[in-house]
Amino acid sequence: MSAHIIDGNAIAALIKAEVAGRVAVLKRRGVVPGLAALLVGDNPASLSYVSGKARDCEEVGIYAETLRFPESIAEPELLAEVERLNGDPRFHGILPQLPLPPQVDESRIIASLRAAKDVDGLHPINLGRLLGGDTRGPLPCTPHGVLQMLGRSGIETAGRHAVVVGRSTLVGRPLAVLLSNKASGANATVTICHTSTVGLARHTREADIVILAAGRPNTLTAGMVKPGVVVIDVGTNRIDDASRKRGWRLVGDADFSALKEKASWITPVPGGVGPMTRAMLLVNTVTAAEQAAS
Ligand code: NAP
Repeated sequence: MSAHIIDGNAIAALIKAEVAGRVAVLKRRGVVPGLAALLVGDNPASLSYVSGKARDCEEVGIYAETLRFPESIAEPELLAEVERLNGDPRFHGILPQLPLPPQVDESRIIASLRAAKDVDGLHPINLGRLLGGDTRGPLPCTPHGVLQMLGRSGIETAGRHAVVVGRSTLVGRPLAVLLSNKASGANATVTICHTSTVGLARHTREADIVILAAGRPNTLTAGMVKPGVVVIDVGTNRIDDASRKRGWRLVGDADFSALKEKASWITPVPGGVGPMTRAMLLVNTVTAAEQAAS
């Protein structure tokens, strides 16, 4: 068996086209959706993420501004900036690019966002709503992107056993909540695994769907799954590769080459969940603008 490869770039392109249509409708009403990104320091990965997000915004007609601050910024200064943006009607979404430097408490910055402008979906109010079964959003981008990938690929989740490897607030836990919701495109029976799980393979072998968000290459190998499993790989890991000019390449958490011969569906890394995460940020921004304009 050779798995269907789920093309995250292709699904993200469809979603972006939908967002561009919604942006055009808003613009006809005189509303330009806007996103403000807060970039602290000059971490190359954060710089590249933020510039990618700004390019995505431009592509679909969302106005994007990146506000840059020195690595040494004090927390009260950043809180004041968030407060200013909370009150700025040009911005429907505010995105503090994580990680923030150690002197700044990330959770305090996230909690200071106006919940309606929290386009990462990580504000305690938005996470609380999600836990209560309210999926109107903003939903965390990566978990929402994974659900969209499953749904748009026609992969049934209802009644199936999904094993989520990872329990972070960013990915694993919201994903488990979304998958287990009493709603169409969800209704799965969910197991969450983490580093204290005894015998990970015991759980993954029982799974119809395995979602990997551990951040460790080869967390899932072919011997750990049953034939026909669906593998969604959120993991993004840099490994040394002397054959590449830059000296490294990106891999996921799955042993992709072996698993693609055993799974029914699998996502590649790169080109799988990553582009979906970016697309869902655009969805959250345009939704926030629609809600502000209604
Ligand atoms: P994180 O906060 O480090 O959480 C990792 C989770 O995986 C933790 O809950 C950890 O368990 C668990 N874990 C680690 N190794 C494990 C193992 N061998 N067996 C079972 N569980 C294990 O990471 P994150 O922010 O959730 O991100 C996870 C991965 O996804 C990273 O590679 C990240 O770069 C990637 N990511 C990709 C996207 C995308 O758009 N593609 C978006 C977000 C994140 P404990 O809780 O016990 O420590």
